[in-house]
Amino acid sequence: MSVAIPDLETVSAQEVLGYAVERFHPRLKMACSFQKEESVLLHMLTEIEPEPQVFMIDTGVLFAETLETWKRFEERFGVNIEVIDARSPDEPWTMERCCGAAKIDALEQALDDVDAWVTGIRREQAPTRAAAAKLERDDRRGIWKVNPLADWSEKDLWRYIFAHELPYHPLHDQGYGSIGCAPCTRPGAGREGRWAGLDKTECGIHE
Ligand code: SF4
Repeated sequence: MSVAIPDLETVSAQEVLGYAVERFHPRLKMACSFQKEESVLLHMLTEIEPEPQVFMIDTGVLFAETLETWKRFEERFGVNIEVIDARSPDEPWTMERCCGAAKIDALEQALDDVDAWVTGIRREQAPTRAAAAKLERDDRRGIWKVNPLADWSEKDLWRYIFAHELPYHPLHDQGYGSIGCAPCTRPGAGREGRWAGLDKTECGIHE
């Protein structure tokens, strides 16, 4: 049986989140990687629902600045961010093991008990994201995927962050357009610093 998808393409990010909260909360979780998109989303979400479900995936190889931003987010937004453990302390980090298994497994675990998840995906980030809808089915998991910022530009994000004096990841000020784990992230505009020199464009969680 096919599922009817409401058309949220012409409404604002706040309205998309409002719809998602009303329809899915508390079976709604926001994925947080502490980048500029999450500064905006977490602010909007906590304005709508003061006790949202938010999770982060700890691969054990995050930047120190990411851990620092995590604490600042919790303080500013008054949330307790659930940590999904994807660390492998007994094995050395490798690209294949980190992304191929641990992070994907962690995501499945995080989304095991929800009907929808919220992401910071924006269409301009990458060709793989160009067709993202503000609300779409995540067929792989049989749940909904909510992308309130799908049509936002980088400028839109910074305008919102500064207007609301939100905390944001300090590495953005050092030329990192997109921030993943420390071993595979370099400075660069957009997502050009991600997996530099490798034939890779996504960690696997949005594929
Ligand atoms: S950011 Fe890098 S190390 Fe972390 S999960 Fe993605 S590809 Fe693996």
